[in-house]
Amino acid sequence: MAHMEFIDLQTQYRHMRDPMNRAIQTVLDSSRYINGPQVKELEDALAQFVGCTHAVGCSSGTDALLGILMALGVGPGDEVITTPFTFIATAETIALTKAKPVFVDVEPDTLNLDPTLIEAAITPRTKGIMPVSIFGQCADYDAINTIAEQHGLWVVEDGCQSFGASYKGKRSCNLTLAAATSFFPAKPLGCYGDGGMTFTNDAQLAQQLKVIREHGQIAQYQHARLGINGRLDTLQAAILLAKLPFFADEITARQQVAARYAERLAGKVRIPTIRPENISVFAQYTVRVASRDQVRATLAAAGIPTAVHYPIPLHHQTVFADLNHSKEAFPHATLAATEVISLPMHPYLTIEQQDAVTEALLNALP
Ligand SMILES: *Cc1c(COP(=O)(O)O)cnc(C)c1O
Repeated sequence: MAHMEFIDLQTQYRHMRDPMNRAIQTVLDSSRYINGPQVKELEDALAQFVGCTHAVGCSSGTDALLGILMALGVGPGDEVITTPFTFIATAETIALTKAKPVFVDVEPDTLNLDPTLIEAAITPRTKGIMPVSIFGQCADYDAINTIAEQHGLWVVEDGCQSFGASYKGKRSCNLTLAAATSFFPAKPLGCYGDGGMTFTNDAQLAQQLKVIREHGQIAQYQHARLGINGRLDTLQAAILLAKLPFFADEITARQQVAARYAERLAGKVRIPTIRPENISVFAQYTVRVASRDQVRATLAAAGIPTAVHYPIPLHHQTVFADLNHSKEAFPHATLAATEVISLPMHPYLTIEQQDAVTEALLNALP
């Protein structure tokens, strides 16, 4: 069999090569590399896509999260509730503001933040809740927003894996006070470098987000507050605009790939649980197996690329050692980290490739 990619960005590029090359050429010809018109055009298109009023392009998903926390005034002495089962950036940005990330365990099946455990973690210092829509499936935002309202907290969705997903018919990134997504190349909607975006229906918050991404600047060389260099490149905005017409079909293709995996693997490995109110974009198709590392090595030998999202839960990470969590804390996140394995997942995965993946996986099981 030909070489298989975990996420095949080459095939995707070939599929949209002409409009993509034109979009890039237009930026090169304009030489408006910073704050070119494509940035605003993309913001308007994606705000409309998710159904919210304001979108602010950012240099990465991480800077999008950081910008929101800065705009909300999070700082020393504050606590933000989040999940220990995520990419480091979620809790990293909380810690960068000098606030404390407070972990709450995940649901054992979806691996999203468990709403029933949130209340016990709320203290007088808690300012908000930052759930992650892990692997492309939204957390239970109705339940989480209700708890937040009762305690006067905000909710910010880390939608870095879930752009294009929906929850009860509403799009990810329009379910909470504000949300961040990432356009890292491997994400469901990826650019050709780093990029991200924030979303909100709050005009004042959106204004702050714009000021923060330009060094706190309110007029040229007038700096009203601390900010960052957090803009989205014009080139990346143009690349995303070129990808957007293909995105709906890609989301559908992701559902089909996931359905084929589920059909072949159900009952043999633990397949993802998708709640009936959710449409996942399957940023990852992550199954769970015993002897994960051995299964992964056998798959690698058979030419099947896999990944582990994530091998170390955040409460075991050295950078968060000062939070003093026991190794046994957050048992669902801790167990998941030993069992998860992500299979090749992208809209251009062929049936033949999927056959090869599932056959190799079933052979590799202990
Ligand atoms: C990818 C990701 C981020 C960070 O996005 P970048 O664009 O790489 O900075 C944050 N949170 C989660 C859950 C992610 O998957």
